[in-house]
Amino acid sequence: MYYHYSGVIHIHTTDSDGTLPFDEVVKTGQECGLDFMMFSDHNTLKKLKEGKEGWYDKTLAIIGCEINDRENKNHFLAFNLKETIPFGASAEEYVAEVARRGGVGIIAHPIETRSVLPQYGLYPWTAWKAVGYHGIEVWNHMSEWMEHLTPANRPLMLFTPRRFLVIPRKEVLEIWDRLSQKQRVCGIMSADAHAFRHKIFGPIHVRIFPYAVKFKALRTNLMLRKPLSQKFELAKEELLDAFRNCSVYGSNFRWGDARGFEFKAEQKGNEAIIGEEMEIEGLVNLSAKAPKRGRFRLICDGQLVKEALGDAFICQTRQPGLYRIEVLKGNKGWIYSNHIRLTGKKE
Ligand SMILES: [Zn+2]
Ligand SMILES: [Zn+2]
Repeated sequence: MYYHYSGVIHIHTTDSDGTLPFDEVVKTGQECGLDFMMFSDHNTLKKLKEGKEGWYDKTLAIIGCEINDRENKNHFLAFNLKETIPFGASAEEYVAEVARRGGVGIIAHPIETRSVLPQYGLYPWTAWKAVGYHGIEVWNHMSEWMEHLTPANRPLMLFTPRRFLVIPRKEVLEIWDRLSQKQRVCGIMSADAHAFRHKIFGPIHVRIFPYAVKFKALRTNLMLRKPLSQKFELAKEELLDAFRNCSVYGSNFRWGDARGFEFKAEQKGNEAIIGEEMEIEGLVNLSAKAPKRGRFRLICDGQLVKEALGDAFICQTRQPGLYRIEVLKGNKGWIYSNHIRLTGKKE
């Protein structure tokens, strides 16, 4: 029996450059059925200090912040901090400091490219030597949207912000698979929700990406062996542990609620689920299932091993390696599991 939770990470409010106050964003999240929400306003923990973290009925709200360096690059989501990190530190310094304070740190939008809208800058990750981070955004809604924007499709893009979420970038998946060879790196999907107001003409504005639309797109889900506690402090620690342990699968909610997806490895009564590690000898069963049909792709050490259509998937292997599953709907990315680590002798 496993427990599944679906949440949104990387949310901005009026405490930085979002357009709705915290309480209203929480309400929208509840209406969208989110099990958890992780806020990360730029360089502030204002709402944390106001005691706003906690359970809001069935929705767990966690408040962190998004840190950047002097050049406004190397954006880094940090959760479980009590105080912000003084501005001016280098990325290597704040990554290490977040870890030292027992925080959970996630590299935000690692690669960004943009053809138009120069008024919105590029905020790539360059500090690859940094040590101590826990995760990386493998798909960021805002980055992806900006990247697809051209003068010709701009009106369409403004009104259908989820339409261009096709598939995570190959380069980012490659970086994630490569970094994971050395240490656990939690791959998450993020909203980067601001609900920017965009000037159409004179005083007329539209809200690009209303929060409710964002909350029905890129989500991060948990597959846990135990349910989250009803006690807030415990639930928070369990949630953060899920990221430390990579018990996570990302999804695009537009193609269906991914809750209930499973991926596991089994051998001789032993079992490893998403994020776990198992020593193997001989044949191992790798299996996955999804709430709806899709195209399952099993990836080992960054290479495609097997592909099949259906709502369940099974494969046997003798090879140790880092395994993960992707489920696509047609050519659109739907679910991306974190790795199961199989160790042992290579055959
Ligand atoms: Zn950012
Ligand atoms: Zn952001």
